[in-house]
Amino acid sequence: MHRRVFKESRESEIGSLLLSEGVIRQRVKALAADIHTAYSPVPFTIVGLLNGSLLFTADLLRELPPETEVVFWRVKSYRGTLSSGNPEGLEAEGGEFAGRRVLVVDDILDSGCTLSAVEKRLRALGASSVEYCVLLAKQRARPPGFPVPRWVGFEIPDRFVVGYGLDYNGRYRGLSSIRMLEEEKILPGGAESAG
Ligand code: 5GP
Ligand code: MG
Ligand code: MG
Repeated sequence: MHRRVFKESRESEIGSLLLSEGVIRQRVKALAADIHTAYSPVPFTIVGLLNGSLLFTADLLRELPPETEVVFWRVKSYRGTLSSGNPEGLEAEGGEFAGRRVLVVDDILDSGCTLSAVEKRLRALGASSVEYCVLLAKQRARPPGFPVPRWVGFEIPDRFVVGYGLDYNGRYRGLSSIRMLEEEKILPGGAESAG
């Protein structure tokens, strides 16, 4: 209880609130119910993208049937607050995907480069279908032919956000809410970030 009060007062210093813990929780439950209806009874595999989707994937999984399979892939594309446009780490990821239906889960859709690269890798590994669930999607243009997620938790303004798995230079992933990072907290040039 004490820890919780401390946490909430600190969270408000990081940036203004975009999505509260309660709002996120309700939406995650609704997404899981929809996903279950869409896939049941044929088995599917969730591929969660690390680090950003850690909390979202864990919370979705707790709302899905016990048989649901999950693996995590590590993909990195951001430097500070900018997308590099060139996701790294996918060549190291593999697994048994031949003939599998796959649901890729990510924290946020921005340029779309990450999902596009993940789709190519999963197709090369023989996945029979690839669909996407992202908690957040930024309202911005993306090239034609880039994957369009079947499930989007929230459409958000084109701002840099942190919390509920999303970081700034490794920080703020543990926030229960999602916040727009205060401009003063963004370092010039933006140092390295992961996932
Ligand atoms: P994309 O490849 O679509 O440009 O970017 C997707 C990845 O960039 C996401 O998986 C996420 O890790 C990171 N990202 C994009 N926008 C944001 C943001 O506003 N905040 C944070 N913390 N990460 C972001
Ligand atoms: Mg990141
Ligand atoms: Mg990510």
